[in-house]
Amino acid sequence: MVVKVGIVGYGTIGKRVADAVRRMDGMELVGVVKQNPDYESEVAVSKGIRLYTYEDKVGKFEKARIKVSGTINELLRSIDVVIDATPDGVGAENKAKLYEPMKLRAIFQGGEEAEVAEVSFNALANYDMAVGKRFVRVVSCNTTALSRLISAFLIHGYRIRRVRAYIVRRGADPREFKKGPINDVVFNPATVPSHHGPDVMTVIPSVNIITMAVAVPTTMMHLHMVNMEFDGQISRGEAIKVLEETPRILLFNASSKKFESLAQVIEWARDIGRPRGDVFENAVIEDSITASQNELFLMQGVHQESIVVPENIDAVRAMMGLTDKWSSIRKTDEVLGLITTNKNYALA
Ligand code: NAD
Repeated sequence: MVVKVGIVGYGTIGKRVADAVRRMDGMELVGVVKQNPDYESEVAVSKGIRLYTYEDKVGKFEKARIKVSGTINELLRSIDVVIDATPDGVGAENKAKLYEPMKLRAIFQGGEEAEVAEVSFNALANYDMAVGKRFVRVVSCNTTALSRLISAFLIHGYRIRRVRAYIVRRGADPREFKKGPINDVVFNPATVPSHHGPDVMTVIPSVNIITMAVAVPTTMMHLHMVNMEFDGQISRGEAIKVLEETPRILLFNASSKKFESLAQVIEWARDIGRPRGDVFENAVIEDSITASQNELFLMQGVHQESIVVPENIDAVRAMMGLTDKWSSIRKTDEVLGLITTNKNYALA
């Protein structure tokens, strides 16, 4: 069976998910919905991606001599599942206006409220809960990274008493020239907890987590400083073993490999030839991993532009009932070129 996929919203997330869908066997990218005939539209067409738009915007594309293959309704009528990657809140509107009336399965992104979907999804944490569902929300970049980290220990049988995470958020994505801050540290928000903790609990309801966040003038990655408290002692060595074998988590061996900053993590991804320099994995800084009795401390980098891409692919497989959790995670990782060496794809 080949699952026909359409993407509405071709920005930071949408274009990456589009490329990922095109690389998966068993999936076909029928097309993407664009609103403007800009350079991204032109590049998409040059790559062989079919563009669809709103009826009243077809003329704009014709004027710009960019080929449009049809209207959004035509696209939605010809697919099995839509991946909505529009800005925060637009997905919910699209659900009410389009996807529900058309009885279409839809995947939403983390900028939507949890209520938009039947399940808030992270592949390591709750793949099975999305099996056969009609509406699934792939949680945000920060929530994805925290959910993976917590799941790694839960999957390995550890009992977590509480998680406290301090999030230094990038101010904007590299392409967002109108956003900031450019010279500030912004309380994001000033209230505690920030929304990230409660959002993790939409995926892992049993976890006791509180988060605080600020935004800073960088576009590269978010940085998490995480403190986890376990029922019982944990050693640094045990924690490293857990993280080493959990898929989608990479240990950056800091001092011996000369990683001193997140810029170098991004440079690593560029150097090894990752598309767009994407880091799909949690980038855990190995030197930061410190254990003290039943507490663990660590730092991780989160590449906001790409970390949710593998989860969008797994969400398609889960909703369509194509395969089981670990087969899906393994397949996605292999095709997208995540680091699979020493990873265990047969965990609990
Ligand atoms: P983006 O602004 O880069 O891209 C959104 C695209 O959707 C833009 O091209 C915009 O023109 C288009 N669009 C807007 N309204 C539309 C409509 N009605 N129909 C079709 N296209 C429309 O946004 P993004 O960063 O890719 O974010 C998309 C979603 O992913 C949001 O929910 C966001 O919270 C979430 N997310 C973003 C990041 C990130 O760091 N960028 C990380 C994880 C999750």
